[in-house]
Amino acid sequence: ENLTNQIAAGEVIERPASVVKELVENSIDAGATRIRIDVVDAGLKQIVVQDNGSGIERDQVDLAFTRHATSKINNERDLFNVSTLGFRGEALASISAVAHVEILTSVEGKIGTRADFSGGSKKGQEDAAARKGTQITVKDLFFNTPARLKYLRSPRTEMMKIVDIVNRIALGYPQIAITLSNTGKVLLRTPGNGKLQQTVANVYGRHIAEKMMSFEKEDSDFKVSGFLSKPELTRSTRNYISILLNGRYIRNFKLATAIMDGYGSKLTARHYPIAIVAIHVDPLLVDVNVHPTKQEVRLSKEKELSRLITSAISDALLDNVE
Ligand code: ADP
Ligand code: MG
Repeated sequence: ENLTNQIAAGEVIERPASVVKELVENSIDAGATRIRIDVVDAGLKQIVVQDNGSGIERDQVDLAFTRHATSKINNERDLFNVSTLGFRGEALASISAVAHVEILTSVEGKIGTRADFSGGSKKGQEDAAARKGTQITVKDLFFNTPARLKYLRSPRTEMMKIVDIVNRIALGYPQIAITLSNTGKVLLRTPGNGKLQQTVANVYGRHIAEKMMSFEKEDSDFKVSGFLSKPELTRSTRNYISILLNGRYIRNFKLATAIMDGYGSKLTARHYPIAIVAIHVDPLLVDVNVHPTKQEVRLSKEKELSRLITSAISDALLDNVE
């Protein structure tokens, strides 16, 4: 059972950044408006994610750490209508299979719970005073899977991956106040006031946010909106293109190409824009069950969506010239 959990953990948890992603997505699903992420040594030593979300009931804590147990899907129909970021019930089970995990959680108006899990089994649980919300501490990731530990890159690279994922989540949720620090040094702080331009300034810097413009367009199936760099502001990689589908950060080559097509000949070869493109669609048109990390999704009407994105962006760039 522990071995199965360790193997399965590898699919979801590859590195500290995957832990951060899963924990922060859980906080968002729990309705948090404030999320604090504090890592030590690029997450190799410790990762703490603290939120002011719903919290977990005392008698639900075990279930939260059980593989394939999720509070987010109740029936088969829900599986094709996923509106939360999580739904597989794998993250907490996976993380606790390959690390030491402490959870401190409290539901509004009730005494809280502290519990410890390590290497796939529970070490203890007690009542504890806590504010409403959840704090999860992950220590010594991969302590019991040396092969995976060896596969990790330098702390610098691992930290870049954490910053990258938190930046993208922050861009997708300007209404949530997010703070990220590494060994006490604050690397990102967003105010959570719902203003995307403000979040772009926090993530990429004010000088960049000032050279960007907003756009919005919809058809009968999709609504696309976001923030784009003007054509003169480009980057040498596609990395500054963020696509969020119903708030979920996804990787999709065709949609990234549709974004660049919107710029047309305004982009020269090997120049890429900075773009945050949020897509809103009926969850029934999206199949997120393709890959455990949920970064690849299958979309009905992808061609129509590509066309909408391209025209939304080219319209916005035209308006801007006038
Ligand atoms: P999933 O997100 O796919 O449901 P997880 O393993 O990530 O699976 O989490 C398991 C369950 O634990 C969730 O369904 C949720 O009920 C609970 N949970 C996890 N993190 C939090 C949190 N920060 N706040 C409230 N509930 C949480
Ligand atoms: Mg989850």
